[in-house]
Amino acid sequence: MNAPLRYGMILIVSGPSGSGKSTLCRKIFGKFDGIEFSVSCTTRPPRAGERDGVEYYFRTPEQFEELIRRDAFIEYASVHGNFYGTLKSEIFGRIEKGIDVLLDIDVQGALSIKKLAQENPLAARCMESVFVAPSNCSELERRLRGRATDSEEAIARRLANAKKEMAFWKEYKYVIVNDDLTAAQNTLSNIIHALRQSSARFKETPFYEY
Ligand code: 5GP
Repeated sequence: MNAPLRYGMILIVSGPSGSGKSTLCRKIFGKFDGIEFSVSCTTRPPRAGERDGVEYYFRTPEQFEELIRRDAFIEYASVHGNFYGTLKSEIFGRIEKGIDVLLDIDVQGALSIKKLAQENPLAARCMESVFVAPSNCSELERRLRGRATDSEEAIARRLANAKKEMAFWKEYKYVIVNDDLTAAQNTLSNIIHALRQSSARFKETPFYEY
């Protein structure tokens, strides 16, 4: 097999719970080849229908701590009272092979990877970021309440966190206001198409040099 012409991108997609970010991410996978989801580890219990190794790797706090000790994470954070972390093994092997990796992570995680990119040239070359925002707060609350699996306390916590997260939109390269899922999906697709042509990630010239 020929060596891949380019590195894959580390595509970070953040946005508060209720922004529709996860739905948007899921829709993207049907539309593109060569993009894979980074399955995170979490200490939060699975919701109905969630499978270990698909939506998340569900781990106990002790197992999560062991992974921290083994330096297995590219980033990890406490979100809504549980730990979440991105495994290095989900990222680096893939981008070397030219596979794009999509990370649905929170603002703290995005900032950690941005910081890492200051010392890690490969991460700097491959990191891209998109912030998904709801058009307004009442829409956000409506979407959070529509998720029947969460308790009232969890909803209140997610709403308060969402408002804090919104303040970080400027840290991201792209912003998508998700007031229409189809339009937002098209925008994200267009961003991915453009990012795939970024000269930053080509390993060699993609055409005959004159
Ligand atoms: P949920 O519990 O609703 O699946 O996710 C809660 C939040 O945790 C979401 O904002 C999601 O993007 C974030 N999250 C999921 N995986 C990770 C991760 O590996 N690292 C960080 N920092 N946040 C994550």
